[in-house]
Amino acid sequence: MEQIGQDLETMRRVPLADAHVEAICEIGSERSYAAGEVVAEIGDPMDTFIYVLEGEIEVVNPYTNERMLESALGPTQFMGEIGFLNRGTNYLRMRASVDTRVIETPRTAMLDLMSRVPELSDHIITVFSARRRKQFEMSHGSVKVIGADRDPAVQEVERFLSRNRIPFKSYDMDARDEATNKVCDLTGHEPSVILGTDTKLEDPTPRKVAQFLNLDLDICSQRTFDLLIVGGGPAGVAAAVYAGSEGLDALVIEDMAVGGQAGTSSRIENYMGFPTGISGTDLTYRGQIQALKFGTRFVMPRRVNALERREDGSFCARLDGDDEDIDEICANAVLVSTGVQYRRLPLENLRELEGSGVFYSATEMEARFCGQTEAVVIGGGNSAGQAAMFLSRTAKHVHLVVRSGSLAASMSSYLTSRLEADPRITIHYNTQVTALHGEDWLTGVTFSTPDGESHIDTTALFIMIGAAPNTEWLSGLVETDEKGFVLTGSAVGRESPFETGTDGIFAVGDVRSGSVKRVASAVGEGSVVVSQIWTYLDSLKNRA
Ligand SMILES: Cc1cc2nc3c(=O)[nH]c(=O)nc-3n(C[C@H](O)[C@H](O)[C@H](O)COP(=O)(O)OP(=O)(O)OC[C@H]3O[C@@H](n4cnc5c(N)ncnc54)[C@H](O)[C@@H]3O)c2cc1C
Repeated sequence: MEQIGQDLETMRRVPLADAHVEAICEIGSERSYAAGEVVAEIGDPMDTFIYVLEGEIEVVNPYTNERMLESALGPTQFMGEIGFLNRGTNYLRMRASVDTRVIETPRTAMLDLMSRVPELSDHIITVFSARRRKQFEMSHGSVKVIGADRDPAVQEVERFLSRNRIPFKSYDMDARDEATNKVCDLTGHEPSVILGTDTKLEDPTPRKVAQFLNLDLDICSQRTFDLLIVGGGPAGVAAAVYAGSEGLDALVIEDMAVGGQAGTSSRIENYMGFPTGISGTDLTYRGQIQALKFGTRFVMPRRVNALERREDGSFCARLDGDDEDIDEICANAVLVSTGVQYRRLPLENLRELEGSGVFYSATEMEARFCGQTEAVVIGGGNSAGQAAMFLSRTAKHVHLVVRSGSLAASMSSYLTSRLEADPRITIHYNTQVTALHGEDWLTGVTFSTPDGESHIDTTALFIMIGAAPNTEWLSGLVETDEKGFVLTGSAVGRESPFETGTDGIFAVGDVRSGSVKRVASAVGEGSVVVSQIWTYLDSLKNRA
């Protein structure tokens, strides 16, 4: 399956071309570090590009202060990883192991150079992505999440980090292994996130963690953007790439993590160009990197709660936050790409058990809870089918519960055939869940079947039963169909298929009425809508 970057171990090391080094020297300045001097500390913002002229820079274990990796950066190599594009936080302590001379270039000047020299940009981004992949796979980063794995608040933080591709290591306080006990002593057994050895965030939430790690960007609400893209699923990310490449000043606001629903799919097999499949997170993460390269900015996790139209025709989006902490972002055009969210089942103790045995996505995060149990997946669509296939690798057995008598109308036939042939999966047709059991954690599920009531002991239930559009934040500014999906194109008298009835508001992807609910169509719509937005913005300039 495709990955976010190449494998650093097997990647051929290619020095930067002489002309590129010269260009970097022109915008940077030389600096020397004495042997043993720290070049970058954990928690520092990544705002400098460092190219090594002479000497060596090593990664240091922050606990022992010893060298952590065998390999180090030498002459012709450069420091940094993909977070540099977004002025992220540095997760590693880097130190000169001998007297070292480098060229240091401010981040903004370096990004400007990269946008002018695509070959240089490709080279740097390839290396940066491979380094992030390595950090992610080896949990090299210095972010530690401490808490009980079964605590929904801890799961939410881990899901946020994992879906945003932030390298972290989790310590399960229930597990009581040696490594965990050592870190637990440090925290007094409260859930927390630790950066490095001594910076601690207690009672963490995704928003607090984002601020702590410098991901919740300074959104600069003083200026008016050309385009505000609300929702960072495949549609929004595709629009972010095209908006950046067409020179629009665009900002994406995402409530949880870039990737949207696709980010909850462990394997997308029908997206063109990836014959061995790609995880939704990796696909959209690649898009995010591409968009960042073109200058589009991302803000997350922030939710748009309301939208207002100003007298001059521009829009202001009001973001979530405490009363004193409410931010507003304004733009001349708005792209609605907020997709859909899973429906809930009308079951009595559902809310109490969400995150405690009841889940709405099936990724590695949730699969951890299936090793000792039979898993139940509810739903007859592709997402339920994929979840069943994926979970069958870890769960003792998977039960797919389908309300209708067949999967033919709702699921792709390749998936149906695989499910029917898999001995680790049982499909229960004409069956519905009627009760959930358990107090702190799910212990079982009752079904009604054509033969009467039945019961399965399970500690992992996955609900995937269709979805409702995320449109409440639109504050009635656009028309929707009877199910709440946004109406566009001829349905509201517009020539452009993605324009809503309100000048300056466009909609793409799953949230749009009549769209095909697939990754490829969301990406396609997000890509092509930008030329229509560009024309609209241009007409505003001509009017002024
Ligand atoms: C488990 C699963 C597996 C799937 N597998 C496949 C597959 O194999 N192939 C395929 O083609 N399709 C698949 N799909 C469908 C596909 O993922 C969707 O069609 C696609 O993600 C839609 O993209 P989108 O950008 O329109 O919306 P979404 O992916 O829903 O993204 C919308 C984003 O908007 C954000 N958002 C919502 N409200 C707000 C707000 N008020 N403020 C800020 N942000 C907000 C959400 O957090 C979300 O990230 C799958 C879906 C699921 C759930």
